[in-house]
Amino acid sequence: MTVRPFLRHAPTADALPLVLDSPHSGEHYPDDFDHAPPRALVRQAEDTHVARLYRGAPGFGATLIEATFPRAYIDANRSLADIDLALLADPWPAPVTPSRKTEQGIGLVWRIARGGSPMYDRKLTADEVQRRIDRWYVPYHAAVTAEIDALHAAFGAVWHINCHSMPAVGDANADDPGRPRADFVLGDRDGSTCAPGFTAFVADTLAGLGHSVAINDPYKGVELVRKHGRPALRRHSLQIEMNRRLYMDEVTLEPNTRYAALEADLARLVAALAGYIRAQL
Ligand SMILES: [Zn+2]
Repeated sequence: MTVRPFLRHAPTADALPLVLDSPHSGEHYPDDFDHAPPRALVRQAEDTHVARLYRGAPGFGATLIEATFPRAYIDANRSLADIDLALLADPWPAPVTPSRKTEQGIGLVWRIARGGSPMYDRKLTADEVQRRIDRWYVPYHAAVTAEIDALHAAFGAVWHINCHSMPAVGDANADDPGRPRADFVLGDRDGSTCAPGFTAFVADTLAGLGHSVAINDPYKGVELVRKHGRPALRRHSLQIEMNRRLYMDEVTLEPNTRYAALEADLARLVAALAGYIRAQL
């Protein structure tokens, strides 16, 4: 069976220029992903359940795109130049600009699993990294870009939510080790990827549902909002990180007793976004 790199959930109500993408909730582990740590530990990198938690979004006119592959294998929320040369057996044939994420071992291809243990007991060839890019990363990015561009062309404006989840407490490799996190962290790269009013609207809506909200702390947003957010062109892109304690056990990945309440709150959020967008058009 050939697994597609992404799933697209089309609107089931009148379409709005609202795209949600979930780049890190993929659960299909390709056969050549020969990670060294146990699968259960590697899976702690996933934003498990995130695409399922937003499954109500198409009912409000949104389009939802989810990656099927694990971010520990190839991370769709990194730039293609965010290459970790320490992981490679041979030279990389293109320019590299390793980011802070690569320094932390979690660049385009992850060098470590959660907690810091090495992801591989070997080096990877440049060819196999290129195959991961071609087979999974590029089609996923093409799908998100095509959706955003088509809706912008049709409506003259588009809103993109880049959907994630985060550990309740950062580990030793995080920028905020040991510090408990808010329920939601919104990332607009310090106000550069969407109108400030959009970030404020999402923050106010979530706070009104009883959630604590932080902005750009500790997550500012990475590649997907950087690539798509051009507020001056009416292309608004916002990252939303949800605290995993709101919906699952972080070790077993099993939904907890709060899962259904969070799913309902996310439906309320998307309903509110639909109203916001209608008012802006
Ligand atoms: Zn994520």
